[in-house]
Amino acid sequence: MIKKLSMLKNSYKRKFLIFAAFVICAAYIGETHKGNTQYTIYFGSQPIAVTSVKPEAFYKAYGDVKAKLYSEGKNNLDNDIYIEETSLKSNDIRYVGESDITEVLYSRMDDKEPILTGKTTQIFKYVNPYYVECEYVYDDSMYEDEMNVTQYEAPGTREVTVIETYYNGERHDRKILETNIVTEAVPRVVHVGTVKRPLYVLPVTDYILTSCFGPRWGTNHNGIDLAVPTGTSVAAAADGIVIQAGWNGGYGISVYIDHENGVITRYGHMSETLVSVGQEVKQGDIIGLSGSTGDSTGPHVHFEMRENDVPIDPSKYVSY
Ligand SMILES: [Zn+2]
Repeated sequence: MIKKLSMLKNSYKRKFLIFAAFVICAAYIGETHKGNTQYTIYFGSQPIAVTSVKPEAFYKAYGDVKAKLYSEGKNNLDNDIYIEETSLKSNDIRYVGESDITEVLYSRMDDKEPILTGKTTQIFKYVNPYYVECEYVYDDSMYEDEMNVTQYEAPGTREVTVIETYYNGERHDRKILETNIVTEAVPRVVHVGTVKRPLYVLPVTDYILTSCFGPRWGTNHNGIDLAVPTGTSVAAAADGIVIQAGWNGGYGISVYIDHENGVITRYGHMSETLVSVGQEVKQGDIIGLSGSTGDSTGPHVHFEMRENDVPIDPSKYVSY
């Protein structure tokens, strides 16, 4: 009598286990909203995803099981409940496709606890931004160390179609099926200079050469004279450090720049200096305004180059 009661209890317990094992299978319920069917995928009683694509379902057997698949045959003219009974070996996968499976019942053929697990897939689309690679345009109107952004980038958008696979409600993998561009991304366009930067440039660009380097009036003219209207910007011939700025005898208001390679440049007869001694300058920086100060007969820039303190003809480095 006691033994029988115990067996009854065991039998009851097994039915409960079968029910519990079913609950762990992923399942889905379809609902129609405004003509679009939405499928809510459940893991147990917990909704985990909503998709407009009918999920496919797989069930994998752990241990040998006998399974009954119940389906409300919605596409069946008789509208009968479809029941399929099947035996599965351990690790068999039963594909139940897009049928409206509402219930899976099974019992394991040995006395051990039956386990059945579920797999669902879902496909969905989303739109996200994307960028395209920068475009470089080589430009022979710029020095090789110059860059200029002529167009800034803007993201485009693309629609991505993704398939996700869930095992027992946990995402197992995700694959991109397709991407379609909705709006084109705009690349950043950068112009990159190709011209080798000259070692030295003339301090002014629009000038009349009124005196060359060499003997003049019984002495030596140590530079070249570039006639420009008073107030013209005077640029540094190259990078360097200002070693003289202000009045300096016959040079009048002048600037000297030490290029730290044995070469010093001098700019004479200016009306104003815009730099001070010790200041670092870059090639092309405006160091002062032209004038006619010191020993000068008219507005011009006296441009002088010295190598190891010996005046040289600037045509060695610059053309004019
Ligand atoms: Zn001169």
